[in-house]
Amino acid sequence: MEPENQKTIIPESQSGKHRANVSSSADGARRVIRDADRAHRENFRHYVESQSHEQWQPLLPRLYEVWDEMVELSEPPAEMTPPYILFSEPTFNHAYGQYWGTSSFGSSSEIRIRLSLWTRKHPHIARDASLAGVQRFIEDVVRHEFCHQYQREILNDTSTISHSAAFRDVCNKVGKKLGLPDVREGKKRPDAEDKDLPSSAQWPHNVRPSGYYLGAYQPPSMTQAISVRLTQPIAREDARYYREMLESIMAAKLDGKTVEIIYGGNEDS
Ligand SMILES: [Zn+2]
Repeated sequence: MEPENQKTIIPESQSGKHRANVSSSADGARRVIRDADRAHRENFRHYVESQSHEQWQPLLPRLYEVWDEMVELSEPPAEMTPPYILFSEPTFNHAYGQYWGTSSFGSSSEIRIRLSLWTRKHPHIARDASLAGVQRFIEDVVRHEFCHQYQREILNDTSTISHSAAFRDVCNKVGKKLGLPDVREGKKRPDAEDKDLPSSAQWPHNVRPSGYYLGAYQPPSMTQAISVRLTQPIAREDARYYREMLESIMAAKLDGKTVEIIYGGNEDS
């Protein structure tokens, strides 16, 4: 969800040493990934699916299925090589995940997912969230990072802006098939027609219908409202009242707006 290394695409060797791996029908151009990278990435996936520790089953294999679904849904369709999918810290503090064109060990295409999402220690994940809800949230991290992979490896978008117009278009084409509303570029452009849409930088978390994450996702504005208001001492009855109010807010679609909860309403006014 943040800027990534740009050196994703390795030019085809003049010697013919590297066979073509990926071809795009977007502009008819051929994109090439080194044979060694492709083989290693496919082996890595195979290892995850067949050999990884039970602690990570069935989550990690499921994330590769999500990746497969994204390949199926993407337009124009393209042959793609699986990325490395790792529970590893993104380099940006607030990112849920990250796509790197060059992997940590010098191969290509690495997707990192923040571990605290899965352990429910992340402030945007409810402590009592169900594993099913957290998994849905993490699957959407993979969907987002897939779009970055497509942007780099298929569209060859090498701009320094990660949530570019090309990225937005990848999200919106897939999003349509997933039944999700359109988003804009990461940067809000005052003269753009789509300027009032949600940002692709948080896609698809910010366009999912309420309840999709089964209560696992606590958007930042809600977290803030809870911490500001409920750290004050309140009567038991009041607590029940505010809890019900919060639950009704959580059931409503937030659309990134700030939620303000007025504490201690005065009945006389
Ligand atoms: Zn991104």
